[in-house]
Order: sequence, then structure tokens, then C-alpha cells
Amino acid sequence: MTNNKKFYTVMQYDVIVIGSGPGGYVAAIRCAQLGLKTACIEKYSTFGGTCLNVGCIPSKALLDSSEHYHNAAHTFKTHGINLENLQVDFGQMVKRKDEVVAQTTGGITFLFKKNKITSYQGVGSFVDKNTIKVTKADGSEETITTKNVIIATGSKPSSLPFLKVDKQRIITSTEALNLPEVPKHLVLIGGGVIGLELGSVYARLGAKVSVVEFMDAIIPTMDRSLSKELQKVLQKQGIEFYLGHKVTGATSDGNEVTVTFDSPKGDKMELKADYCMVAVGRVAYTDGLGLENIGITVEERGKKITVDEHLETSVKGVYAIGDVVRGAMLAHKAEDEGTFVAELIAGQKPHINYNLIPGVVYTWPEVASVGYTEEQLKEKGVKYKTGSFPFKASGRARASMDIDGFVKVLADQATDEILGVHMIGPRAADMIAEAVVAMEFRASAEDVTRMSHAHPTFTEAIREACLAATENRAIHI
Ligand code: FAD
Ligand code: NAD
Repeated sequence: MTNNKKFYTVMQYDVIVIGSGPGGYVAAIRCAQLGLKTACIEKYSTFGGTCLNVGCIPSKALLDSSEHYHNAAHTFKTHGINLENLQVDFGQMVKRKDEVVAQTTGGITFLFKKNKITSYQGVGSFVDKNTIKVTKADGSEETITTKNVIIATGSKPSSLPFLKVDKQRIITSTEALNLPEVPKHLVLIGGGVIGLELGSVYARLGAKVSVVEFMDAIIPTMDRSLSKELQKVLQKQGIEFYLGHKVTGATSDGNEVTVTFDSPKGDKMELKADYCMVAVGRVAYTDGLGLENIGITVEERGKKITVDEHLETSVKGVYAIGDVVRGAMLAHKAEDEGTFVAELIAGQKPHINYNLIPGVVYTWPEVASVGYTEEQLKEKGVKYKTGSFPFKASGRARASMDIDGFVKVLADQATDEILGVHMIGPRAADMIAEAVVAMEFRASAEDVTRMSHAHPTFTEAIREACLAATENRAIHI
């Protein structure tokens, strides 16, 4: 006699998210909002991933504190404010940063409870595509089942093969956020986003900061006009740059670090410092996930998980988002992908415009960019026109003594559609949102010129740059 009865395994969850960074926690919250039974596994004791614990939030807390000090030391006098015995209490600065981190990660705990998301603390790994094992800190294990999995395991700092990061003197961004003292001399390997942000923190606090960058420009992937202007401003702030120089080694005797590098002409050079931070990019993190158990392989370079246009891996029902997949390693990109996959699983038809994900560098002045760079338009053979407006011509910028930088708008020569906006200046990180909105709605430069901008604000510079791109009609230059 045959038994025709079919047996179905009842899955505990509709979705299990592995990792609670901005990709993972946003995915989990959106899944829960859409009525999916959701769990999130995080190996650390706090939620929020790199971004909240050792990335965006603590770096911005230290950037804000160090900027206050820098202004008190350098610009208050001109404003008519005299301070005596100005001092940095670095311990308090780090403590405040830790409090900001604790409040922010605690906020995710609250949001998980509010949205009835079950959280598991431990390392999540695949047994099969529907079964995840959670290995807790005490070694105990629990197995949970699910219809869908979202991998959001993020990234970790990468290094150079010949370099030993000892985490004491030769450090990554993680240690740079928790140093016991302000370095006397900090050498940065890499003039990208992390190097320039954390380099700014310590330069403002009095450290000598030297940047050794392999390419011939800092922030080399952004519009070259931004690299040039930022370098000029940071040099004025005392940071020194060795561009086009190739690092060949870094060793520490416990107190002093020696960094060796070759000049573009091949001269052997060295710098001695008390700290050296390696900031040459990040690699995807998939250790311990057990991807091999479900037949997922990672890319040789960068260790990223391959996904299709729906962020689905080669295994149906297993998705991956954020730093662990292709594209910019940015918190808001991870968040957008978290929302995208949640909505896809719930049967919706979401969309992400990857070309309109803004990039920001939180130096002062801030650098922000969206859309195509001038170099990319040239390479694509697109006919474009440009309009620029310098902050030194802005009344608001003069009032606040923030006259470095400019806004540059690139628009299609024939249609006037805005193709790229690149700015360096005060509050550029917030102002870039106007450009993103305009470009999402496929505005022309002239459209922006016809919208009222409050006076006096920094945003008037965007309108002026659009005016400059529209038959050279800027009013204030
Ligand atoms: P992550 O934030 O890396 O989170 C992944 C999480 O998964 C981690 O908590 C990890 O513990 C967990 N995990 C990994 N494996 C497992 C496992 N097997 N089981 C359970 N849990 C696991 N981006 C910006 O947009 N703006 C900024 O200002 C900015 N500043 C930065 C400053 C610094 C110093 C650094 C280092 C990065 C910064 N970034 C910034 C980048 C940003 O932090 C990342 O792009 C973002 O955190 C990626 O999010 P994610 O969710 O993909 O991964
Ligand atoms: P990055 O890619 O921004 O910069 C790395 C730099 O190191 C590049 O300029 C590269 O040319 C240089 N480099 C590489 N090899 C080198 C070598 N051998 N010698 C000298 N220079 C070398 O990487 P990052 O600064 O480490 O940041 C990692 C990621 O974190 C970035 O992808 C970024 O998106 C993200 N992040 C974002 C923000 C932000 O949005 N504000 C802040 C910090 C970090």
C-alpha cells in the first residue's frame, strides 16, 4: 500500500536575516512591516553592524567633536570670541562617542521589539537553504528554519599582503576610533574616505597627519575637481600628501612605526610615526556562514557574493545585500537594498536607481556627489555642459566663514537634464539630497533655477550652479 500523504515542514520564519547592520536591520524591519514573520541573527552583543558600532556613527561623533575644537582654536577669535586655556579632553571625547554609539545601537533593540522581530545572538550558518544554525558565544547551538534568507554580513577592513596589522601601532579604522591618546604623528595608508575622515579628526586635534596614496589623487573615484579642491583645503589644515606613492612596508617596534614607500620616480622613502592606519578599502565578510553547504561561492577578488538584479544568489530564496554584494560600500545603499529585498519577498516590485546613490565624505568642508562625474561623461562620449558656483560668492557662506569649495552641475548639452552634481562646501552632505530629488524626477538645470531657494542658505549655491549651466545666467558671479 502506498502512502499518498504529503508531508510539509512547517517553517518557523518567513525570513531570517543574518547580520544586523544597516542592510540587515532595515531588511528585518521592512519584512516585519509587511507582515512577514522575521528573525535577525547577529554575532555581536549589539545590533547595528559596522555602521553603528565602528563606522558611520562613531566616526561622525569624533568628527563633530574635533570640529568644535578646531573652530574654537582657529575661527572663534575672528567671530569675536576669546577663549583662554583651550584644551582637548580626549578621554571625554571618546566617552561621548561611545555614548552616542550605545544610544544608537540601543535604538535598534527598541525597533526590533516594536516590530516583533525575534533576535538571536550568535553566528548564523547554513545547514541547508531553509535551515540556519545559530552558534552562541557559550558554544551552544540552536537550529531555526525559514522560507527565505537575507545574507547581510557586511565587510571588514582589508590590508596589504606584506603588512601585519598589530592593532596597537599599525591599526585599522576600528582601532583608530578607540585610541588611548591623540597621535603625535599618524601616517595613513590610503587617501580614500576613511583615511581622510579619520585623518581630519586627528589633524584637528593636533596630530601631524601624512597620507600615502597609491593613485595620483585623493578620493580618486569621485569627480577630479572635488579631489583637487579637497586636497588644497586639507593641506591648509596641515595634512601632508604623498600621491602616486606605493607603500612597500610598515613595521613597528612597539612604540614607533616605520612606513616605507616608493616615490613615482622610484625613490625609496620612509616616514616614522607613532601610529599608522591602513585604509585601503574593505572586503566582504562571509566567514563562518557555511555558504559551501548550499553551493554558494564567493568572488575571488573582494570575496563578494554574486547576486542577480533581484539581489538573489544562485540559490532560490537566498538573497544577499549591502557590503557583502557588488556596488558601493555605503550604509544607505545597504538600507535601500534591505528594503528592496523585503518588498520583493512580499510580492512587490521595488526599484533601486544605483546611479543616484549619493557619496559623501565628512571632512570639513564636506564633499558630496551624485550621478555621473565629468570623467565618466567624457568616457561615455556624452555631450554635456557645466555650471559652477563658488561658496566664496555666497552670502550665507561668508557669514559663517565657510568660503572654501563650490557646487558643480553637469547637464546634458541638448536636453538640459541634470546628469551629475558634485559639491564641496559647508553642509554638502545634507545639500546633496536636493540634487538626488531633482535627478530622480529627471529635472533639467533650468527646472532647479525656477524653484525658490530660501535666502540666505548654502543651497542657493545649487541654484546658482544650475543658473551657470543654463546659458551662463548665474546672478552672483
Ligand atoms: P555591516 O554594517 O558590516 O553589518 C554586518 C553585520 O553582520 C555585523 O554586525 C556582523 O557582526 C554581522 N555578521 C557577520 N557575519 C555574521 C554571521 N555569520 N552571523 C551573524 N552575524 C554576522 N557608510 C556611509 O554610508 N556613510 C558613512 O558615513 C560611513 N562611514 C563609515 C566609517 C567607517 C570608519 C567605516 C569602517 C565604514 C563607514 N561606512 C559609511 C560604511 C558602512 O559602515 C557600511 O557600508 C555599512 O555598515 C554596510 O552595512 P551592511 O549591513 O552591509 O554590513
Ligand atoms: P576607499 O576605497 O575609499 O579608499 C582606499 C584608498 O586606498 C584608495 O584611494 C586607494 O587608491 C588607496 N590604496 C589602495 N591600495 C593602496 C596602497 N597599496 N598604497 C596606498 N594607497 C592605496 O576605502 P576606505 O577609505 O578604506 O573605505 C572603505 C569603504 O568604507 C569605502 O568603500 C567607503 O565607501 C566606506 N566608507 C564610507 C564613508 C562615507 O560614506 N562617508 C566613510 C568611511 C568609509
